[in-house]
Amino acid sequence: MEMGMKEEGKETIESQEFIKVMDVSKDYITGEVTVHALRNVSFEIQKQEMIVILGPSGSGKSTMLNILGGIETASAGEICFLGQSLDWTDKKALTMYRRKHVGFVFQFYNLLPGLTALENVELAAELGEHPLDPMELIRQVGLHDRADHFPSRLSGGEQQRVAIARALCKNPDILLCDEPTGALDSKTSVQVLNLLSEFHTKYQKAVVIITHNQNIAQIADRVFYFRDGCLERIEKNPNPRKPTEVEWK
Ligand code: ADP
Repeated sequence: MEMGMKEEGKETIESQEFIKVMDVSKDYITGEVTVHALRNVSFEIQKQEMIVILGPSGSGKSTMLNILGGIETASAGEICFLGQSLDWTDKKALTMYRRKHVGFVFQFYNLLPGLTALENVELAAELGEHPLDPMELIRQVGLHDRADHFPSRLSGGEQQRVAIARALCKNPDILLCDEPTGALDSKTSVQVLNLLSEFHTKYQKAVVIITHNQNIAQIADRVFYFRDGCLERIEKNPNPRKPTEVEWK
């Protein structure tokens, strides 16, 4: 029933127009050398979709994620968010887009070392228009007894859980995760993916995960394969699995 409703929801015009990426290219010019990091990439993301991006190193995955999140600008093409085109020339508007709508999770957590776990989350909550309760999120990621610990006293997996709470407390519409388990062992990776998957279901947010790990593709609704700056193909996953159900080959 729930799945049926979700599928039905995906067919509405509103969800189809959540994010639309049209012919996006990105060139990095360093002296005489031009790197074509992205070449005419087009796709759509629907509300509540779980997308996994796979591809070799240097294929343009992070560049795509950063442009989607308004951290970087494209050299050509267009991105529409809820029917509105992102204006690459308007830095203020891009900052507002990032603050209001986008949550980021990075491979190396990027927590502020001088703030406790809870304070890291609270700081991000202040930026959101409709933030979630920071302590409640700390509880949900299983760190209620470590809320007053500084990052240096937390393990990698715990720091990533704080980073996820921080990304979510802004109550963003889309969560962009760049190799979120890249620095973690497989057991901790499953815990972190579980959290992302639970939040995806509970708050019904779009989640995009970049990874090198083919196994993680099993949790996606759709898998985007990047190669040489191109979106080579998209595969739809008829039966996305929970991270705990994934066969970790
Ligand atoms: P991936 O995430 O798939 O490893 P990236 O998006 O990081 O790939 O990089 C795509 C290409 O763009 C690579 O050739 C990389 O060296 C180049 N690149 C990325 N960022 C920059 C930058 N700031 N300046 C110059 N080249 C860059």
